[in-house]
Amino acid sequence: MTTFKGFAMKGLNEVGWIEKERPECGRRDAIVRPLALSPCTSDIHTVWEGAIGDRKDMILGHEAVGIVDEVGSDVVDFKPGDRVIVPAITPDWEDEAAQRGFSSQTTEPLGGWKFSNFKDGVFGECFHVNLADANLAKLPDDIKPETAVMLSDMFSTGMMGAENAKIKLGSSVAVVGIGPVGLCAVAGSAILGAGRIFAVGTRPNCVKVAKNYGATDIVSYKEGPVDEQILDLTDGKGVDSVIIAGGNMNTWNQAIAMAKAGSVVSNVNYLSGEDTVPIPRVEWGCGMANKDIATGLCPGGRVRMERLADLVRYGRIDPDQLVTHKFKGLDKVEEALMLMKDKPKDLIKPVVTIEE
Ligand code: NDP
Ligand code: ZN
Repeated sequence: MTTFKGFAMKGLNEVGWIEKERPECGRRDAIVRPLALSPCTSDIHTVWEGAIGDRKDMILGHEAVGIVDEVGSDVVDFKPGDRVIVPAITPDWEDEAAQRGFSSQTTEPLGGWKFSNFKDGVFGECFHVNLADANLAKLPDDIKPETAVMLSDMFSTGMMGAENAKIKLGSSVAVVGIGPVGLCAVAGSAILGAGRIFAVGTRPNCVKVAKNYGATDIVSYKEGPVDEQILDLTDGKGVDSVIIAGGNMNTWNQAIAMAKAGSVVSNVNYLSGEDTVPIPRVEWGCGMANKDIATGLCPGGRVRMERLADLVRYGRIDPDQLVTHKFKGLDKVEEALMLMKDKPKDLIKPVVTIEE
Protein backbone atom coordinates (compact mmCIF):
# COMPACT_ATOMS: atom_id res chain seq x y z
CA MET A 1 0.00 0.00 0.00
CA THR A 2 1.70 3.25 -1.09
CA THR A 3 -1.34 5.42 -0.54
CA PHE A 4 -4.22 5.05 1.90
CA LYS A 5 -7.55 6.70 2.57
CA GLY A 6 -8.70 8.47 5.68
CA PHE A 7 -11.52 10.65 6.96
CA ALA A 8 -10.20 14.18 7.37
CA MET A 9 -10.79 17.72 8.45
CA LYS A 10 -10.43 19.52 5.12
CA GLY A 11 -10.68 22.91 6.76
CA LEU A 12 -12.85 24.62 9.36
CA ASN A 13 -16.40 23.20 9.27
CA GLU A 14 -15.48 20.81 6.45
CA VAL A 15 -14.82 17.07 6.56
CA GLY A 16 -14.42 14.37 3.89
CA TRP A 17 -12.47 11.35 2.65
CA ILE A 18 -8.97 11.96 1.31
CA GLU A 19 -6.11 9.88 -0.09
CA LYS A 20 -2.58 10.26 1.32
CA GLU A 21 0.91 8.77 0.97
CA ARG A 22 1.57 5.99 3.45
CA PRO A 23 3.66 7.51 6.29
CA GLU A 24 7.36 6.61 6.75
CA CYS A 25 7.80 4.38 9.78
CA GLY A 26 10.96 5.74 11.50
CA ARG A 27 13.50 3.62 13.42
CA ARG A 28 11.63 3.65 16.74
CA ASP A 29 8.11 3.98 15.35
CA ALA A 30 5.29 1.77 14.10
CA ILE A 31 2.60 1.79 11.43
CA VAL A 32 -0.69 0.43 12.74
CA ARG A 33 -3.97 -0.60 11.07
CA PRO A 34 -7.15 0.05 13.07
CA LEU A 35 -9.35 -2.67 14.57
CA ALA A 36 -11.58 -0.37 16.64
CA LEU A 37 -12.07 3.39 16.44
CA SER A 38 -14.15 5.93 18.27
CA PRO A 39 -14.74 9.63 17.60
CA CYS A 40 -14.29 12.13 20.45
CA THR A 41 -16.12 15.31 21.34
CA SER A 42 -12.70 16.95 20.86
CA ASP A 43 -12.89 16.12 17.11
CA ILE A 44 -16.09 18.18 17.08
CA HIS A 45 -14.48 21.13 18.90
CA THR A 46 -11.58 20.91 16.44
CA VAL A 47 -13.62 20.89 13.20
CA TRP A 48 -16.76 22.86 14.02
CA GLU A 49 -15.58 25.25 16.75
CA GLY A 50 -12.06 25.96 15.47
CA ALA A 51 -10.75 25.30 18.98
CA ILE A 52 -7.15 24.69 17.83
CA GLY A 53 -7.33 26.88 14.73
CA ASP A 54 -7.49 25.76 11.13
CA ARG A 55 -6.13 22.45 9.80
CA LYS A 56 -6.00 21.44 6.14
CA ASP A 57 -6.52 17.82 5.06
CA MET A 58 -5.67 16.41 8.48
CA ILE A 59 -7.04 12.91 9.15
CA LEU A 60 -9.21 12.99 12.27
CA GLY A 61 -9.46 10.67 15.26
CA HIS A 62 -7.26 9.77 18.20
CA GLU A 63 -8.98 6.80 19.86
CA ALA A 64 -7.85 3.46 18.44
CA VAL A 65 -7.02 -0.16 19.01
CA GLY A 66 -5.13 -1.71 16.13
CA ILE A 67 -2.84 -4.32 14.68
CA VAL A 68 0.83 -3.56 14.04
CA ASP A 69 1.63 -3.48 10.32
CA GLU A 70 5.28 -2.40 10.38
CA VAL A 71 7.88 -1.51 13.00
CA GLY A 72 11.18 0.40 12.76
CA SER A 73 14.55 -1.34 13.15
CA ASP A 74 15.03 -0.20 16.78
CA VAL A 75 11.62 -1.31 18.08
CA VAL A 76 12.13 -4.09 20.65
CA ASP A 77 8.78 -5.19 22.07
CA PHE A 78 6.38 -5.07 19.11
CA LYS A 79 6.21 -6.86 15.78
CA PRO A 80 3.80 -6.97 12.83
CA GLY A 81 0.62 -8.81 13.80
CA ASP A 82 0.59 -7.66 17.45
CA ARG A 83 -2.76 -6.28 18.63
CA VAL A 84 -2.25 -3.01 20.45
CA ILE A 85 -4.03 -0.31 22.43
CA VAL A 86 -3.02 3.05 20.99
CA PRO A 87 -3.11 5.91 23.51
CA ALA A 88 -4.70 9.12 22.27
CA ILE A 89 -1.63 10.92 23.61
CA THR A 90 1.78 9.75 22.39
CA PRO A 91 4.45 11.84 24.16
CA ASP A 92 8.10 12.43 23.26
CA TRP A 93 9.36 10.62 26.34
CA GLU A 94 12.88 12.03 26.22
CA ASP A 95 11.62 15.63 26.35
CA GLU A 96 12.28 17.65 29.49
CA ALA A 97 8.55 18.10 30.25
CA ALA A 98 8.24 14.31 30.50
CA GLN A 99 11.19 14.27 32.90
CA ARG A 100 9.40 16.87 35.01
CA GLY A 101 6.39 14.55 35.15
CA PHE A 102 4.19 16.20 32.53
CA SER A 103 4.45 13.82 29.60
CA SER A 104 1.31 15.09 27.85
CA GLN A 105 2.94 18.52 27.54
CA THR A 106 6.14 17.42 25.78
CA THR A 107 7.84 19.85 23.34
CA GLU A 108 5.07 22.43 23.94
CA PRO A 109 1.80 22.77 25.88
CA LEU A 110 -0.53 19.95 24.67
CA GLY A 111 2.37 18.65 22.51
CA GLY A 112 1.81 15.01 23.50
CA TRP A 113 -1.47 15.23 21.60
CA LYS A 114 -0.29 14.49 18.07
CA PHE A 115 -3.08 12.49 16.38
CA SER A 116 -5.64 14.83 14.81
CA ASN A 117 -3.77 17.86 16.10
CA PHE A 118 -0.19 18.04 14.71
CA LYS A 119 -0.34 15.00 12.47
CA ASP A 120 -2.80 12.66 10.82
CA GLY A 121 -5.09 10.88 13.22
CA VAL A 122 -6.30 7.30 13.37
CA PHE A 123 -9.38 7.44 11.09
CA GLY A 124 -7.49 5.93 8.16
CA GLU A 125 -6.51 2.57 6.71
CA CYS A 126 -3.26 2.99 8.63
CA PHE A 127 -1.55 5.51 10.91
CA HIS A 128 1.90 6.30 12.30
CA VAL A 129 2.78 5.93 16.00
CA ASN A 130 5.93 7.60 17.34
CA LEU A 131 8.14 5.75 19.87
CA ALA A 132 6.32 2.43 19.60
CA ASP A 133 7.97 0.80 22.64
CA ALA A 134 6.84 3.63 24.91
CA ASN A 135 3.54 4.50 23.26
CA LEU A 136 1.86 1.18 22.42
CA ALA A 137 0.47 -1.38 24.83
CA LYS A 138 -0.30 -5.02 24.02
CA LEU A 139 -4.02 -5.71 23.92
CA PRO A 140 -4.66 -8.52 26.43
CA ASP A 141 -6.31 -11.53 24.75
CA ASP A 142 -9.32 -11.35 27.07
CA ILE A 143 -10.23 -7.73 26.22
CA LYS A 144 -12.12 -6.96 23.01
CA PRO A 145 -10.87 -4.11 20.76
CA GLU A 146 -14.23 -2.29 21.10
CA THR A 147 -13.85 -2.38 24.89
CA ALA A 148 -10.21 -1.33 24.97
CA VAL A 149 -10.75 1.62 22.63
CA MET A 150 -12.61 3.30 25.53
CA LEU A 151 -9.33 3.36 27.51
CA SER A 152 -7.21 5.29 25.03
CA ASP A 153 -8.82 8.67 25.81
CA MET A 154 -12.12 8.37 27.75
CA PHE A 155 -10.94 6.45 30.80
CA SER A 156 -7.46 7.94 30.76
CA THR A 157 -8.86 11.50 30.70
CA GLY A 158 -11.84 11.07 33.00
CA MET A 159 -9.86 9.19 35.60
CA MET A 160 -7.11 11.83 35.41
CA GLY A 161 -9.82 14.38 36.26
CA ALA A 162 -10.43 12.41 39.45
CA GLU A 163 -6.70 11.92 40.18
CA ASN A 164 -6.07 15.67 39.78
CA ALA A 165 -9.04 16.42 42.07
CA LYS A 166 -7.08 14.97 45.01
CA ILE A 167 -9.96 12.80 46.19
CA LYS A 168 -9.59 11.46 49.72
CA LEU A 169 -11.33 8.46 51.33
CA GLY A 170 -14.90 9.48 51.94
CA SER A 171 -14.52 12.97 50.46
CA SER A 172 -17.30 14.53 48.36
CA VAL A 173 -17.09 15.19 44.62
CA ALA A 174 -19.27 16.93 42.05
CA VAL A 175 -18.69 15.78 38.47
CA VAL A 176 -20.16 18.44 36.17
CA GLY A 177 -20.94 16.81 32.84
CA ILE A 178 -21.58 13.08 32.50
CA GLY A 179 -20.89 12.45 28.87
CA PRO A 180 -18.35 9.65 28.43
CA VAL A 181 -15.49 11.68 29.94
CA GLY A 182 -17.47 12.72 33.01
CA LEU A 183 -18.70 9.15 33.46
CA CYS A 184 -15.09 7.97 33.60
CA ALA A 185 -14.45 10.72 36.16
CA VAL A 186 -17.29 9.28 38.22
CA ALA A 187 -15.74 5.80 37.94
CA GLY A 188 -12.33 7.21 38.87
CA SER A 189 -13.76 9.09 41.87
CA ALA A 190 -15.39 5.90 43.14
CA ILE A 191 -12.20 3.86 42.72
CA LEU A 192 -10.17 6.54 44.50
CA GLY A 193 -12.52 6.30 47.48
CA ALA A 194 -14.89 9.24 47.26
CA GLY A 195 -17.93 9.08 49.55
CA ARG A 196 -20.73 11.15 48.06
CA ILE A 197 -20.50 11.63 44.27
CA PHE A 198 -22.81 14.18 42.60
CA ALA A 199 -23.20 13.65 38.84
CA VAL A 200 -24.50 16.60 36.80
CA GLY A 201 -26.23 15.82 33.49
CA THR A 202 -29.54 14.82 31.94
CA ARG A 203 -29.23 12.23 29.13
CA PRO A 204 -31.03 9.13 30.49
CA ASN A 205 -28.38 6.63 29.34
CA CYS A 206 -25.67 8.73 30.94
CA VAL A 207 -27.61 9.04 34.19
CA LYS A 208 -28.03 5.26 34.31
CA VAL A 209 -24.32 4.59 33.74
CA ALA A 210 -23.36 7.32 36.24
CA LYS A 211 -25.29 5.42 38.91
CA ASN A 212 -23.70 2.13 37.83
CA TYR A 213 -20.23 3.73 37.99
CA GLY A 214 -20.77 5.03 41.53
CA ALA A 215 -22.74 8.32 41.50
CA THR A 216 -24.84 8.73 44.64
CA ASP A 217 -26.81 11.85 43.57
CA ILE A 218 -27.94 13.05 40.13
CA VAL A 219 -28.32 16.78 39.54
CA SER A 220 -29.94 18.28 36.43
CA TYR A 221 -28.48 21.60 35.28
CA LYS A 222 -31.84 22.20 33.60
CA GLU A 223 -33.56 22.45 36.97
CA GLY A 224 -31.73 25.49 38.32
CA PRO A 225 -28.16 26.63 38.94
CA VAL A 226 -25.95 23.63 39.76
CA ASP A 227 -24.09 25.39 42.59
CA GLU A 228 -27.35 26.31 44.33
CA GLN A 229 -28.65 22.75 44.03
CA ILE A 230 -25.45 21.20 45.37
CA LEU A 231 -25.12 23.75 48.17
CA ASP A 232 -28.71 22.93 49.17
CA LEU A 233 -28.02 19.21 49.13
CA THR A 234 -24.93 19.67 51.35
CA ASP A 235 -26.52 22.06 53.88
CA GLY A 236 -24.54 24.94 52.43
CA LYS A 237 -21.16 23.24 52.87
CA GLY A 238 -20.28 22.48 49.25
CA VAL A 239 -17.95 19.73 48.05
CA ASP A 240 -14.27 18.78 48.51
CA SER A 241 -13.66 18.37 44.77
CA VAL A 242 -15.31 19.52 41.57
CA ILE A 243 -14.47 17.88 38.25
CA ILE A 244 -15.50 19.90 35.19
CA ALA A 245 -16.19 17.58 32.24
CA GLY A 246 -18.85 19.58 30.43
CA GLY A 247 -20.94 22.72 30.62
CA ASN A 248 -20.10 26.24 29.54
CA MET A 249 -18.13 29.22 30.83
CA ASN A 250 -20.71 29.79 33.57
CA THR A 251 -19.81 26.34 34.88
CA TRP A 252 -16.63 27.95 36.25
CA ASN A 253 -18.63 30.39 38.34
CA GLN A 254 -20.72 27.53 39.69
CA ALA A 255 -17.74 25.24 40.33
CA ILE A 256 -15.90 27.83 42.39
CA ALA A 257 -19.06 28.71 44.29
CA MET A 258 -19.80 25.12 45.33
CA ALA A 259 -16.18 24.19 46.14
CA LYS A 260 -15.31 24.28 49.86
CA ALA A 261 -12.35 26.25 51.13
CA GLY A 262 -9.44 23.81 50.78
CA SER A 263 -10.77 22.06 47.68
CA VAL A 264 -9.73 21.36 44.12
CA VAL A 265 -11.58 22.30 40.93
CA SER A 266 -10.19 19.88 38.34
CA ASN A 267 -10.90 20.72 34.72
CA VAL A 268 -10.78 18.28 31.82
CA ASN A 269 -13.22 20.17 29.57
CA TYR A 270 -11.83 21.38 26.22
CA LEU A 271 -12.77 25.05 26.50
CA SER A 272 -13.88 26.77 23.34
CA GLY A 273 -15.82 29.90 22.52
CA GLU A 274 -14.71 32.65 24.90
CA ASP A 275 -11.16 33.98 25.27
CA THR A 276 -11.20 34.27 29.05
CA VAL A 277 -12.43 32.01 31.82
CA PRO A 278 -14.50 33.70 34.55
CA ILE A 279 -13.35 33.08 38.12
CA PRO A 280 -15.71 34.78 40.61
CA ARG A 281 -13.48 36.78 42.99
CA VAL A 282 -15.52 36.74 46.19
CA GLU A 283 -16.61 33.09 45.90
CA TRP A 284 -12.93 32.28 45.26
CA GLY A 285 -12.11 33.78 48.64
CA CYS A 286 -10.49 36.79 46.93
CA GLY A 287 -7.86 34.30 45.73
CA MET A 288 -6.96 33.19 49.29
CA ALA A 289 -9.33 30.31 50.10
CA ASN A 290 -7.16 27.36 49.01
CA LYS A 291 -9.66 26.67 46.23
CA ASP A 292 -7.10 25.27 43.80
CA ILE A 293 -7.59 24.83 40.07
CA ALA A 294 -6.06 21.77 38.41
CA THR A 295 -5.91 21.15 34.66
CA GLY A 296 -4.57 18.36 32.51
CA LEU A 297 -4.48 16.67 29.14
CA CYS A 298 -5.23 12.97 28.89
CA PRO A 299 -2.23 10.91 30.08
CA GLY A 300 -0.78 8.70 27.34
CA GLY A 301 1.94 6.11 26.97
CA ARG A 302 2.29 2.40 27.48
CA VAL A 303 2.26 2.10 31.28
CA ARG A 304 -0.93 4.15 31.57
CA MET A 305 -2.69 1.91 29.03
CA GLU A 306 -1.43 -1.28 30.72
CA ARG A 307 -2.72 -0.08 34.08
CA LEU A 308 -6.12 0.87 32.65
CA ALA A 309 -6.28 -2.54 30.95
CA ASP A 310 -5.67 -4.14 34.36
CA LEU A 311 -8.63 -2.19 35.76
CA VAL A 312 -10.74 -3.88 33.08
CA ARG A 313 -9.21 -7.36 33.49
CA TYR A 314 -9.68 -7.41 37.24
CA GLY A 315 -13.22 -6.12 37.16
CA ARG A 316 -12.78 -2.60 38.55
CA ILE A 317 -14.23 -0.81 35.51
CA ASP A 318 -16.67 -1.80 32.77
CA PRO A 319 -16.02 0.28 29.64
CA ASP A 320 -18.68 -1.56 27.60
CA GLN A 321 -21.38 0.46 29.35
CA LEU A 322 -20.17 3.55 27.46
CA VAL A 323 -20.70 2.02 24.03
CA THR A 324 -24.24 2.74 22.84
CA HIS A 325 -23.76 2.66 19.04
CA LYS A 326 -21.76 0.04 17.10
CA PHE A 327 -20.71 0.18 13.45
CA LYS A 328 -18.70 -2.14 11.20
CA GLY A 329 -16.19 -1.02 8.57
CA LEU A 330 -13.89 2.00 8.28
CA ASP A 331 -16.38 3.78 6.00
CA LYS A 332 -18.68 4.13 9.01
CA VAL A 333 -16.39 6.53 10.90
CA GLU A 334 -18.11 9.36 9.07
CA GLU A 335 -21.52 8.34 10.46
CA ALA A 336 -20.05 7.77 13.91
CA LEU A 337 -18.43 11.23 13.92
CA MET A 338 -21.69 12.88 12.89
CA LEU A 339 -23.45 11.14 15.77
CA MET A 340 -20.89 12.68 18.11
CA LYS A 341 -21.65 16.08 16.56
CA ASP A 342 -25.43 15.74 16.85
CA LYS A 343 -25.43 14.03 20.28
CA PRO A 344 -28.80 12.25 20.09
CA LYS A 345 -30.35 11.64 23.49
CA ASP A 346 -29.47 7.93 23.54
CA LEU A 347 -25.77 8.43 22.67
CA ILE A 348 -22.83 7.92 24.97
CA LYS A 349 -20.11 6.67 22.60
CA PRO A 350 -20.13 5.13 19.12
CA VAL A 351 -17.50 2.53 18.18
CA VAL A 352 -16.49 1.38 14.70
CA THR A 353 -14.88 -2.05 14.38
CA ILE A 354 -12.79 -3.06 11.37
CA GLU A 355 -12.02 -6.62 10.24
CA GLU A 356 -8.39 -7.75 10.40
P1 NDP B 1 -20.37 15.37 26.14
O1 NDP B 1 -20.76 16.50 25.27
O2 NDP B 1 -20.79 13.98 25.77
O3 NDP B 1 -20.89 15.62 27.62
C1 NDP B 1 -21.05 16.90 28.16
C2 NDP B 1 -21.81 16.81 29.44
O4 NDP B 1 -22.01 18.13 29.94
C3 NDP B 1 -23.18 16.18 29.33
O5 NDP B 1 -23.42 15.38 30.46
C4 NDP B 1 -24.11 17.37 29.34
O6 NDP B 1 -25.40 17.07 29.86
C5 NDP B 1 -23.38 18.29 30.30
N1 NDP B 1 -23.77 19.68 30.18
C6 NDP B 1 -24.15 20.36 29.07
N2 NDP B 1 -24.47 21.65 29.38
C7 NDP B 1 -24.27 21.76 30.71
C8 NDP B 1 -24.43 22.85 31.62
N3 NDP B 1 -24.84 24.04 31.22
N4 NDP B 1 -24.11 22.64 32.90
C9 NDP B 1 -23.70 21.43 33.35
N5 NDP B 1 -23.53 20.36 32.52
C10 NDP B 1 -23.82 20.54 31.22
O7 NDP B 1 -18.79 15.45 26.26
P2 NDP B 1 -17.64 14.34 26.50
O8 NDP B 1 -17.90 13.61 27.76
O9 NDP B 1 -17.42 13.56 25.26
O10 NDP B 1 -16.37 15.30 26.68
C11 NDP B 1 -16.32 16.26 27.72
C12 NDP B 1 -15.24 17.28 27.44
O11 NDP B 1 -13.95 16.67 27.62
C13 NDP B 1 -15.23 17.80 26.00
O12 NDP B 1 -15.03 19.21 26.05
C14 NDP B 1 -14.05 17.11 25.38
O13 NDP B 1 -13.53 17.80 24.29
C15 NDP B 1 -13.11 17.09 26.55
N6 NDP B 1 -11.98 16.18 26.47
C16 NDP B 1 -10.84 16.56 27.10
C17 NDP B 1 -9.74 15.75 27.10
C18 NDP B 1 -8.52 16.13 27.86
O14 NDP B 1 -7.47 15.51 27.62
N7 NDP B 1 -8.55 17.07 28.79
C19 NDP B 1 -9.74 14.48 26.36
C20 NDP B 1 -11.02 14.12 25.83
C21 NDP B 1 -12.10 14.97 25.85
P3 NDP B 1 -26.54 16.25 29.06
O15 NDP B 1 -26.63 14.94 29.81
O16 NDP B 1 -27.74 17.08 29.23
O17 NDP B 1 -26.10 16.05 27.66
ZN1 ZN C 1 -10.36 13.05 22.73
